Amino acid sequence: MSASDFGANERVLVIGLGRSGLASCEVLRARGATVFATDEKDPAALGEALAEVARSGATFVPPAGIDDVAGELTSAVLSPGVPLTNTLVRRVQAARVPVYSEIEVAYRICAAPIVAVSGTKGKTTTTALIGELFRLAGRKTRVGGNIGNALISETAVASAGDWVIAEVSSFQLEAIRAFKPRIAVLLNIMPDHLDRYHSMEEYAEAKLRIFTNQGPGDAFIGNLDDPLIGALAEGEGASRIPSRAYWYGLSPRRMTALYVRGGRITYAPPSGDPRPIEIMPVSEIPLVGEHNVANVLAAILVGLTAGIEPETLRSGVRGFSTLPHRLQTVAEQNGVLFVDDSKSTTPGSVIAGLESFERPIVLIAGGKSKRTDFREMGEAIDRKAKAVVLIGEAADEIATSIMAAQIVRAKSMDEAVATARLLAREGDVVLLSPGCASFDMFASAEARGEAFARAVAGEAVVRG
Ligand code: ADP
Repeated sequence: MSASDFGANERVLVIGLGRSGLASCEVLRARGATVFATDEKDPAALGEALAEVARSGATFVPPAGIDDVAGELTSAVLSPGVPLTNTLVRRVQAARVPVYSEIEVAYRICAAPIVAVSGTKGKTTTTALIGELFRLAGRKTRVGGNIGNALISETAVASAGDWVIAEVSSFQLEAIRAFKPRIAVLLNIMPDHLDRYHSMEEYAEAKLRIFTNQGPGDAFIGNLDDPLIGALAEGEGASRIPSRAYWYGLSPRRMTALYVRGGRITYAPPSGDPRPIEIMPVSEIPLVGEHNVANVLAAILVGLTAGIEPETLRSGVRGFSTLPHRLQTVAEQNGVLFVDDSKSTTPGSVIAGLESFERPIVLIAGGKSKRTDFREMGEAIDRKAKAVVLIGEAADEIATSIMAAQIVRAKSMDEAVATARLLAREGDVVLLSPGCASFDMFASAEARGEAFARAVAGEAVVRG
């Protein structure tokens, strides 16, 4: 491994000019490196990004010019959205230039310990909650990664006594080499991104890379209830984890350090006093759904592992609020609850959303498929929803998985909300939980959630 410090002697190519790529340009330039930047998009479509590249002092190189600079590069940095199979990446690798993911570079320049959180679903919620718990405990805390701000911008300015809480995706974990979190967290591994990975196994392997470089002084926090992650708790699986593993689950089991018993979150310290410690009642968690209890368990176990007092953890959890577009109640009209769960982009998160309510549900689902299987989601819909309004490209495919619930189609979010409203009775929930990506109809999951909230609010005005 090269001992690259990404400083004045380095010549680095940043591939992909999204938020993380632009942050990489800025940080690497500030460290004195010579920085080139490229993107496979037409330069005309890059707009403001090109101006930002220039402002940082980096030099834009169009894809056609890559081979001219490749020979003099010391490394390349990959943005999270660019797969390792990308032709630009291949060309740089062919010139024997090491290619690092942005989180790898972020790690290498970081003086602070990192808590890395990954999983198919619950990353942002859990990362944000861990950030809150650390702050409340008086730790100087920086939160970054997938959650919205580039990790490299946070690690570049973190000091040794700080903590960095990082949300990391499987895409970013694919291209790590030395990335070594002090505490690694895996929440769950459910079908997702099967349009990019060949199989579930390949996707799961990318996630398991989170602990690959850890050592005995580091900690791994895992969800024992998840079959793929739980398989690492004992036997051959356990030998794959090089750090100390701590397990959590919704019920007490032989390996669980943190679990729920009698409605209370309970900690069984792995060593020392054998008497379990009660942390808090589950009823105090201000988020809906059992999946969020699991997320909270993960965050609390991270806190306990980092030496934070149980009382601080309890008040941190109690003071946490639902993040936008994650089972967020946007209105209650005529006794009908309207819930925006637009960030639900996998069948697993739709199931979690449906399971979160004990009242009749009119579900709005569909969008751009990620080649996941909708059968289990269909079963959950039949069990929990009285009707489904389907939108987007995947509507037909989802419809074939539904046997019992009433199915209605809609062409737009306005139409979907209007239809759902007609189907809902007092005491019902209208739940937008699409189970798909948003890009067939919207610029982002956030835009989809906002369109839902607007449609809900618009009708309210009409009806007074
Ligand atoms: P991520 O960052 O991994 O996408 P978020 O916290 O942003 O996760 O939540 C995204 C969606 O996943 C929301 O619909 C949320 O309700 C759902 N979700 C959150 N945690 C879980 C979980 N542990 N299991 C299943 N679904 C979850």
